[in-house]
Amino acid sequence: MPELPEVEVVVRQISKANILSKKIKKVAISEKAMKGSINKSNLQIDSKRVHSLKGHSFKEVQRRGKYILFNVEDSNTLLIHLGMSGTLRINTEGQQEGERHDHFTICFADGRVLRFNDSRRFGKICVVDHNEKHAILHKLGVEPLGREFNAGMLFQVTRQCRAAVKPFLMNGTIICGIGNIYASEILFAAGMDPTRRVCDLTMKECGTLVRKTKYILHHAIKKGGSTLKDFQDSAGKSGYFQYHFKVYGRGGKGCEKCTGTIESIPQCGRTTFYCDHCQK
Ligand SMILES: [Zn+2]
Repeated sequence: MPELPEVEVVVRQISKANILSKKIKKVAISEKAMKGSINKSNLQIDSKRVHSLKGHSFKEVQRRGKYILFNVEDSNTLLIHLGMSGTLRINTEGQQEGERHDHFTICFADGRVLRFNDSRRFGKICVVDHNEKHAILHKLGVEPLGREFNAGMLFQVTRQCRAAVKPFLMNGTIICGIGNIYASEILFAAGMDPTRRVCDLTMKECGTLVRKTKYILHHAIKKGGSTLKDFQDSAGKSGYFQYHFKVYGRGGKGCEKCTGTIESIPQCGRTTFYCDHCQK
């Protein structure tokens, strides 16, 4: 599932792609997407309101948590969540047209096309007004790359909380955008046992965790930006960029910092990867 860095890279690439302020000529939704729930998939497209984008243009694209926000000049917002497997790419009409799983396309007056591809169909696409946007985004926690995520804040919100630090990091209502992959990577970088209760973290440990969170996310964004140079054709296709994970998906393999082995344990229904020796 795309996490904050993947979504951030998509947003940055779209910002650079020069589709902003271009008039929207046509909006298309695949028949399959409209069929609703097939194979337990759950792609949600608000068809009626999405079609109302025609004739308008986007004035900016932003990220909040794992949401991509296209602000429309009429003050509505197109909100896209990539779900498990969604990708966005921009190309021109005729190019790579009608690819399998292209469920939503926006054609601009200059001949370019924004395509949403989602093989597993857990994404979400809707057009919301200012108040609805606020209601959806309101429940999201702080941006981990923002200033409001700092040692003092983390120390304060963890005092009464008995959750383990790994699921805590993934709780989007407290800190948004961190999923299973980066949570494991952050805790390895911080040398912190993923099962530690957050109420036991010292102020110093909160500082370390904040610093490592920002470092890992920034590093992944940087890597992703350089991997997806040719956004025109390949945006998001590689899913996770050529990012080298130190613990995620490496259960049973050797730790890169010590001579130990990476362990994997279930935590809140997800697999956590960590080094028992390096993480205390
Ligand atoms: Zn180790």
